[in-house]
Amino acid sequence: MEFEPVIGLEVHVQLRTSSKMFCSCASDYQTAEPNTRVCPVCLALPGALPVINRRAVEFAIMTGLALNCRVARITKFDRKNYAYPDLMKGYQISQYDVPICEDGWIELPPADAQAQAHRVRIKRVHMEEDVARLMHVGGAEGYTLMDINRAGVPLIEVVSEPDLESPAQAEAYITQLQSTIRYLGVSTANMEEGSFRCDANVSLRPRGTRGLGTKVEVKNMNRVRAVGRALEYEIERQTQVLSKGGRIEQETRGWVDDREVTVSQRSKEEAHDYRYFPEPDLPPLEIDPAWVEGLTASLPELAPARRSRLMSDYGLSEYDAALITAVRSTADYFEAVVGARPAGAEAAAFAKEAANWINGEFARLAAARNGEGPAVTPENMASLVAMFQARTISNAAAKQVLAEMFQTGKGAAAIVEEKGLKKVTDVGSLEPAVDQAIAANPGAVDDYLKGKETAVRFLVGQVMRASKGRADPVRAAELISEKLNARKS
Ligand code: ADP
Ligand code: MG
Ligand code: ZN
Repeated sequence: MEFEPVIGLEVHVQLRTSSKMFCSCASDYQTAEPNTRVCPVCLALPGALPVINRRAVEFAIMTGLALNCRVARITKFDRKNYAYPDLMKGYQISQYDVPICEDGWIELPPADAQAQAHRVRIKRVHMEEDVARLMHVGGAEGYTLMDINRAGVPLIEVVSEPDLESPAQAEAYITQLQSTIRYLGVSTANMEEGSFRCDANVSLRPRGTRGLGTKVEVKNMNRVRAVGRALEYEIERQTQVLSKGGRIEQETRGWVDDREVTVSQRSKEEAHDYRYFPEPDLPPLEIDPAWVEGLTASLPELAPARRSRLMSDYGLSEYDAALITAVRSTADYFEAVVGARPAGAEAAAFAKEAANWINGEFARLAAARNGEGPAVTPENMASLVAMFQARTISNAAAKQVLAEMFQTGKGAAAIVEEKGLKKVTDVGSLEPAVDQAIAANPGAVDDYLKGKETAVRFLVGQVMRASKGRADPVRAAELISEKLNARKS
C-alpha cells in the first residue's frame, strides 16, 4: 500500500516586548546576568499577582491579523498544571478554550511553475508565558543551573491544522511564518537561539484517503532544515512500521541532531493531564474592536504582497522579488535605493540592476561584516548602480568600489575618482593595450583570421588584465575586430 504524510505544526514564538508577560521585569534574558530579571510574580512567591502586558496582547493580535485569523471579543487565560523544575509556579498561565485568535491561514507560494499555491489553515494563536532556563552541567554526575530570567517572558503559540503534505511544505510554512513575524517586528523568530520553537506532528494514511492516522509529535529541532529532516526520518520510520503490518504508537519523539534520528520520549500513557482551569488571578480580557481596527490599519505590507508589488511596480522577476522581500530591511533598502535613482538613469533597468547588486555582491559583503562598519547609504548605493548601468565603471571596478564603500562609508563617485577606476573607453588610451595583446598572441590572431570569431574574447581578456579591469570590454572588442579585419585580404 502507498502512504501519504499528514503534517501539522505547533510553533512557539517568543515576543520581543521590553517587559515580561505578567510582571514588569525586563525580558532581555539572553544578555542579562542570570537571575537578575526576577520579582515576586515571576519567582512565584505566595500572594504575588499577575498583570497582563498590553504590548504582548497587541503583538498576539497583530500576528493573528497577519495570519488572517478572527480576533476574539473576549478571551481568557487558563492554568496548565504540571510539575517541572523550570516551571516556577507549578502551572503555566496559558490559554485553553478561548484563544485570542482563531481560524486563519497561510498561503504557501507554488513550489514551481506547474504547482499551485497551497493554503494551510491556522487553527489558533494563543498567549502564554515562557519557563525558566535550565543548564545541565557535567553529565550524569553533574548538576543543573537555573536562570529564572526567562520565566514569564511572553510567548505565542501558533497551531496549524494538519494541512501540510510534505517535509518541504513544512519548511516552506516555517520560513513564511518567520518572515511574517519578522516583518511585524514582534519577534526575532530565531530558531537557533530558541525564540522560535517548532514541534512537528506527523501521521501517515493510505494515499488518496481523507481520514487521519495516529500521529507522532517530534520535538527538539533547532533549524528549519532539521524540521524537514526529522519529518523525512519519521515518515520513513512510520512507513516501515505500517508496511510490516504494525501499528503507530501515539507518542512524543525527540530529534537527535547529530545522529539524525528520532527517539521515543514519552508515550500516550505517560501523557500529562494538565487539569486546565480558568486563571482565577486574571479577569477575562475584553478586546475593544477599535483597538483591533487600529492595529489592522497599522500592519505593514507583508512579504507576499510586497513581492507582487515589486514585480508590477519595478518589473522585477519573481525570483529577484522573492529574494529582495525575504527580509523586510532588505526590501526597505531596495526601495530607498530605487528612490535615490540619479536623474538620467533609466527606471526599469535601474531597478533590475539595483536588485542584482543588492541580492548579490551587497548581500555577500553585508553578511561577511556581520552588522559592523559604516553604513552604505541608499544614495551611495544608487550612485554606484547608476555608474555601473551607464558603463562608466566595469563590473570588477564596481565590486571594488562597493567593497571600499563597506570599509570607509565613502561615496561611490569619490572612490572611483580616487582610485582612477573610470572605464577606459577612448581609442587613444585603449590602443596600446590592444596592440600589445595582438602582438603577444599570434595564435589567437591566427584563429580569428581563420574564422574563429570567439578568439576576440581571449584577446579582450588580455586587454582587461593589462588594464587591471578598467578597459571597456565592448570598446576593446570593437577595436580588436577592427584591427584584425584590416589584416584580412
Ligand atoms: P494535541 O491535543 O495532541 O496537541 P491537537 O489536535 O491540538 O493535538 O493538534 C496538535 C497539532 O497536531 C496540530 O498542529 C494539528 O494540526 C496536528 N495534528 C493533529 N492530528 C494530526 C494527525 N493525525 N496527523 C498529523 N498532524 C496532526
Ligand atoms: Mg500538542
Ligand atoms: Zn518578574
